[in-house]
Amino acid sequence: MPDQYAVIGNPVDHSQSPLIHAAFARQTGEDLEYGRLLAPKDAFCASANDFRTRGGRGLNVTLPFKGAAFRYAAFLSERASAAQAVNTLKFERGVIFGDNTDGAGLVNDLTQNLGRVLSGQRILLLGAGGAARGVIEPLLQQQPAQLTLANRTPDKAQRLARSFGGALEAGDYAALAGRQFDVIVNATSASLAGELPPLPPGVFARGALAYDMMYGKAETPFLAFARSQGAARLADGLGMLVEQAVESFFVWRGLRPDGAAVLKQLRQLQNA
Ligand code: NDP
Repeated sequence: MPDQYAVIGNPVDHSQSPLIHAAFARQTGEDLEYGRLLAPKDAFCASANDFRTRGGRGLNVTLPFKGAAFRYAAFLSERASAAQAVNTLKFERGVIFGDNTDGAGLVNDLTQNLGRVLSGQRILLLGAGGAARGVIEPLLQQQPAQLTLANRTPDKAQRLARSFGGALEAGDYAALAGRQFDVIVNATSASLAGELPPLPPGVFARGALAYDMMYGKAETPFLAFARSQGAARLADGLGMLVEQAVESFFVWRGLRPDGAAVLKQLRQLQNA
């Protein structure tokens, strides 16, 4: 029987991960199957245990279980510890290993697919939830000139910045007035509700890249605002989704598939 993997979440039927990992398996010739696992909101551990005891080799973890998966794993990668969230579980010889590939996914999409050098750049990260936390350490590793965190609830952003030893500054949106950034990443869930984080005008520097972690057919309010403000490049989070999957595949199989080729296929499907 092929090795079994799945994405666990609630809801999970919208997940594109099975499509992506099936494409990776074809590309690399790996013998695996990847499905969807809908877990009751109060039964993550029981569902993951059941999958594992049936011989499952690994899980991707999506909302709302990344925190539960962090507590479930017996061993954690450094990046999962920093993120305090797990999106990749690997089951091997009775051991539960937890990793977080979201940050690497974002950085690889920015640097490889979008060709942006992040070192020396002024980066602004919007939001202070799980997605923002997961990408801070990988962004800092790129040695930006500065990393600034802005959140609707500024206390939350300041607490988050302190947990990274003050390597980044944090505050509210009003404090951004009069400042400019080269890369602005929207890691809020505002786009899900069709809302725009309250960014002041003029925050996009000349040549700026605007990146929304959300993806979909329609342009998000954040990307529409960035366009109207003259941002030079706009990108949604589909590339991040594919690149985090590349990293998960590497954790499980020791091989790094070509994410760009699969991203191209997904874009064609999205635009069909
Ligand atoms: P959380 O619920 O943990 O955090 C939500 C954040 O958004 C909070 O900081 C919240 O601010 C802020 N927020 C919500 N609404 C607004 C608004 N109207 N204006 C300003 N700020 C707002 O969510 P996650 O961090 O888990 O996810 C964030 C987004 O990232 C989601 O859209 C998700 O789909 C996306 N994502 C994409 C991935 C990809 O692979 N492309 C991977 C992971 C996530 P406050 O603290 O004030 O409430």
